[in-house]
Amino acid sequence: MAAMEFQPLLEDIVATLRPQLGQAGHVADYIPALARVPAAQFGIALRTCDGQEAHAGDSTTPFSIQSISKLFTLTLGMRELGEALWERIGREPSGNPFNSLVQLESEHGIPRNPFINAGAIAVTDRLVSRMDAKARMLELLSSLCLEGVGFDEEVAASEAATGFRNIALANFMKSFGRLDNDVGTVLDVYFHHCALRMSCLQLARAAGFLCRDGVHPHVKEQILTERQARRVNALMLTCGTYDAAGEFAFRIGLPCKSGVGGGIVAVVPDRLTLCVWSPALEASGNSLLGMKALELFTARSGLSIF
Ligand code: GLN
Repeated sequence: MAAMEFQPLLEDIVATLRPQLGQAGHVADYIPALARVPAAQFGIALRTCDGQEAHAGDSTTPFSIQSISKLFTLTLGMRELGEALWERIGREPSGNPFNSLVQLESEHGIPRNPFINAGAIAVTDRLVSRMDAKARMLELLSSLCLEGVGFDEEVAASEAATGFRNIALANFMKSFGRLDNDVGTVLDVYFHHCALRMSCLQLARAAGFLCRDGVHPHVKEQILTERQARRVNALMLTCGTYDAAGEFAFRIGLPCKSGVGGGIVAVVPDRLTLCVWSPALEASGNSLLGMKALELFTARSGLSIF
């Protein structure tokens, strides 16, 4: 299928799911600024490895990318630290909610993987030691999607005011000597990364290097090495959707990274990157209609890594 051939498929998915908009699931109300987002929205966008695009529904509406930012935090960490990044972070699925504290104690403050909150906070700490991590994130994303990208300060402040679990996770890791920097400084960067505002189309472009063996979607620059890009895809498949990663592999069969803003980025290696968004979530914190949309996409296009 060429990209323009995907356009009818995306429109068909929007039409199929439209009657279900706002019918089931709940927006992420543990973050007060996200509790106000209207649930009845749905967007889908894709970009092929050779730069063709298709999109439908609310595909250009910016939303809070939340944990999808962990993909780009990890990318910055891999670029900056190489193998040393893995000294304080694992690569196993947690099988637990994304903000769980339980494994951290028995595993001595080493988070299971970079896609749960504790893991992203640990990567953020390493970045804070080496760079202005807020500015570098904006630079990376703006370069990848060829448009200015910004933080939603209201969401960042809302998370800082109510992020008691994240504060607990960071302090817990600090007590094991696993964070080098001040807890408040690290969390301020973490909350800002989560509070980035982007649309489906921007995210499909920004994740483009993941279907291109690590090569920048627009210029001849290696964002990650081929091996690193493969590893990010492997981590997305096994850990990108928290304790629903098995269900995602079973139903969808693509590396995915989700966020509680309702976005999900998916990669078809060597073919395309895809982003879906709908704010109402299922119990694990993944977009309910986003999952259905990805399931329809893979079933109807025949694309899967399996
Ligand atoms: N900012 C959210 C949090 O820290 C991110 C969680 C998510 O998207 N799964 O709780």
